[in-house]
Amino acid sequence: DLGSSLRGTLDKLRGKSRISEEDVEEVVKEIQRSLLQADVDVSLVMELSDNIKQRALEEEPPSGTPARDFVLRIVYEELVDLIGDSTELPLEEQTIMLAGLQGSGKTTSAAKMAWWFSKKGLRPAVIQTDTFRPGAYDQAKQMAERAEVEFYGDPDNDDPVDIARKGLEATEDADVHIVDTAGRHALEDDLIDEIEEIEATVDPDISLLVLDAAIGQGAKEQAQQFDESVGIGGVVITKLDGTAKGGGALTAVNETDSSIAFLGTGEEVQDIERFEPEGFISRLLGMGDLGSLVERVERAMEETQEEEEDWDPEDMLQGQFTLKDMKKQMDAMNRMGPLDQVMDMIPGFGGGGLKDQLPDDAMDVTQERMRSFEVIMDSMTDQEMENPRSVGQSQVERISRGSGQPEEKIRELLQQHKMMEQTLKQFQGGMDGDMQRMMKK
Ligand code: GDP
Ligand code: MG
Repeated sequence: DLGSSLRGTLDKLRGKSRISEEDVEEVVKEIQRSLLQADVDVSLVMELSDNIKQRALEEEPPSGTPARDFVLRIVYEELVDLIGDSTELPLEEQTIMLAGLQGSGKTTSAAKMAWWFSKKGLRPAVIQTDTFRPGAYDQAKQMAERAEVEFYGDPDNDDPVDIARKGLEATEDADVHIVDTAGRHALEDDLIDEIEEIEATVDPDISLLVLDAAIGQGAKEQAQQFDESVGIGGVVITKLDGTAKGGGALTAVNETDSSIAFLGTGEEVQDIERFEPEGFISRLLGMGDLGSLVERVERAMEETQEEEEDWDPEDMLQGQFTLKDMKKQMDAMNRMGPLDQVMDMIPGFGGGGLKDQLPDDAMDVTQERMRSFEVIMDSMTDQEMENPRSVGQSQVERISRGSGQPEEKIRELLQQHKMMEQTLKQFQGGMDGDMQRMMKK
């Protein structure tokens, strides 16, 4: 499942605060796979991945957002940017014309949309102009009946333009006129001529292109052609209840410079949804819960901001350095980057500054070690955290049992703490008065 491999890739970023170029490449590759699988146009996928790559590498994660969340957010934002919000459809009097190839779902969507507008308190009418397909009239009439909306069609008239004109007159009491048109199995001149004539006659407020979710690379040509002849103001994507993910809609939206209006999710008149980017993107990426993920990112970002306010990298350079300080510092590293980069933020420490005097491994707490250190710290008492030097063998044994970590690891943590404490003491001693004053500001 593509979604789970994307999730797996993103999960590998968990706990990281900086993203390497390889990390970004890997995430982008997964996203490309998901989008291509969902029938998104190749050149669009490339454009999208370039944007994601560039942003992930160039932008600073706001307030130390974790790498995984940061990348996820960029992916989401770029897709939202491309897809946009749903097509604006005022709840008032209007004429809507549907265009699309045969079988795309126009007739079904006409009835569904009429049902949708009727639920919004409007009075819709469906006008059926398809004289090409046998049975089109009966099908449309039945669907309109199921939707309990007004209907006009004429099985004895073989002039679609004339039907359209008469249909508007016959249903003039309705306020939303939905004009269904014929399709063909391919884009042919007579289809284009016909729909152009109907368009000229009914003068719709908006024409919607109806696309089957399964449409792949063909979406581009259709979108261009229909847009050129009648002007496409929005897209309806149907059959999303199937396995297809509807990536062709992105192509259509992009080509016509429009947006998505409705989604069809079944054969019944009620199976219609107004487009909403979040759910659609989740589906495209195969991540069912993208919405809650993005929500979590936002929450995490808020929390991070709050936490950051009461953690100051300069604190650790003043006075005592306890395990609690070390834990805070580890949390901060998770959010802000490796300690040497955190130190770059402190005036006087960065490149060429005091940082360079540090022994190479003094501040080196790798991700893996940090995780086991965190587990160990959770099993320590407050008193032990404040006073790590007081931790003796019997306590090490107890902490080991409580945390499920080998005693060796606990001694390693205590050792690491000691080393960091000593290094910081050297700094405190080594700083001149100017520096100390500057840092206290
Ligand atoms: P048209 O030729 O463009 O008018 O397409 P139709 O409205 O006749 O639809 C073609 C077929 O697709 C019909 O069998 C519909 O029942 C079916 N269909 C349309 N929309 C949906 C949908 O959202 N979900 C499913 N499962 N079937 C749909
Ligand atoms: Mg039809």
